[in-house]
Amino acid sequence: MNNKPLRLTPAGLVLLPLSIACVITGVAVLAVSLNDRLTIAAPGPLITATILVYSALLVLISRTAIAKIRELESVGLLDSLTRLPNRRALHEDVERLSAGDDEVALALIDLDAFKQVNDHYGHAMGDRLIARCAEMLSEVCGNEARCYRLGGDEFAAVMGGKVAGTILEGICRTLIERLSVPVAMEGRHIPVGASIGLARSTADHRLTSSELLRRSDVAMYMSKRGGKMRCTWFNESFDRRRERVREIEDDIRTGIAAGEFALAYQPLVDAEHGRIVAVEALLRWDRGERDPLGPNVFIPIAEDSGLINPLGQWVLRQAVCDALAWDGITLSVNISAAQLRNPEFPIRLGEVLEETGFPPHRLELEVTETCLVLDPVVAERTLDVIRSFGVRIALDDFGTGYASIGFLRRFRFEKLKLDRSLIELAGGDDSSRAMMLSSIALARALDMGVTAEGVETEEQAELVRLAGCDQIQGWLYYRALPAREVDRLIAEQGRGDRADEEAA
Ligand code: C2E
Ligand code: MG
Ligand code: MG
Repeated sequence: MNNKPLRLTPAGLVLLPLSIACVITGVAVLAVSLNDRLTIAAPGPLITATILVYSALLVLISRTAIAKIRELESVGLLDSLTRLPNRRALHEDVERLSAGDDEVALALIDLDAFKQVNDHYGHAMGDRLIARCAEMLSEVCGNEARCYRLGGDEFAAVMGGKVAGTILEGICRTLIERLSVPVAMEGRHIPVGASIGLARSTADHRLTSSELLRRSDVAMYMSKRGGKMRCTWFNESFDRRRERVREIEDDIRTGIAAGEFALAYQPLVDAEHGRIVAVEALLRWDRGERDPLGPNVFIPIAEDSGLINPLGQWVLRQAVCDALAWDGITLSVNISAAQLRNPEFPIRLGEVLEETGFPPHRLELEVTETCLVLDPVVAERTLDVIRSFGVRIALDDFGTGYASIGFLRRFRFEKLKLDRSLIELAGGDDSSRAMMLSSIALARALDMGVTAEGVETEEQAELVRLAGCDQIQGWLYYRALPAREVDRLIAEQGRGDRADEEAA
């Protein structure tokens, strides 16, 4: 940055006043010697004079620096925790840089999962971690970019220059790399990541500092959505997507009140006989004339907006009421990460079970790995409470993430659901088949049931049956059906069983 204030390194802080002191003392001594025509035999008075002038200069510099910091603080430009310039200083700097012809680039940096650090280690540790991250950011910015703390776990970096954007992106990537290893603090290793959004303003297309900040915020959100620990440049299409997401959010809100949501149930069969042993509740949205949306689209939006809590609560109650009559059949309900994080969730679950009289051992909650890795400590606690009711936990979509043996042992799932992608690949290549077989062996060793998801062909069914899966779910057997269809299927199965018993 060309308008950066003069910064002294510690060595500079010692050498600069020392040189000034030497020069001043030298000149003074020379003047005195010439005037009085004296020759200085001993260097003692000269050294004393130099030390005195040096000390006076040091005091002067420190007082000026302290006064400068106080002045900055008094006009509200410094963050008191990190000593970094704050949001107001950022706006001022961007406006000043924008007066020239150079490109101005802004990076918005949001720490990932910082809330968990506060929750687990307390706010004092959280503050120290923020200060540590501020140091790291200052280190990677060096003299090239200026960094800021905007508040909470949000930081920014600004740079002006011909290729400011490219250099700033490089700085951001270095920061992400440094944060890819847990931060060592007070004997602990704390994992923190960062999601970064970048935006630029050029001489041809000048933006106000607020617009630049807004754009980098939108881009940062895209980094979060894209899986975190990444940098994303703002793109005009993000605004349109945000608008669309906001529309869907409003639609979900009104849709819940208007009763537009419904449940479909996909039966799961036992691998040996093909009998229905469980059903999975799958959410459907009747949007009337509007474009249809599947759960893969609207559930993530409901999760981000917090609407998953009322929606998920409705799913749970409705599913339990529908399945009450399906005697002997397990009911599986999908639970999102946001629901699991909600401390109210186990309480509400307990209420639903009590009010409906649904047998807890017939209920199974499906969670995904991302639900648990985000906040394993809280998740473990919540799952323990849920299990204490007698409800079982299944790990959904296994094979799409990175679940380790340690992870499986830690959470002790009652069931593992092998993802459709794994089943599909296993039919085609040997390494995928080996992976599927070892997953099944692992689940068995840990005393978990195994379900194969998305089985569409007889070959796949044969493969997973031989591999040792005990339940199969897939279109080969059943698609998701309305509750009344499941009523009919189960009644039919019951009649068949009775006929068999009578015949036997
Ligand atoms: P999931 O829990 O893995 O559900 C299985 C998905 O695979 C369902 O898609 C189901 O229709 C589909 N499927 C089952 N068998 C086959 C098959 O043989 N072939 C193919 N191609 N697909 C098959 P759906 O209903 O679109 O649900 C997608 C995802 O949405 C679910 O994946 C689940 O993660 C989420 N979801 C659905 N309902 C809920 C809900 O009530 N709450 C929450 N939190 N998530 C839900
Ligand atoms: Mg599921
Ligand atoms: Mg699944």
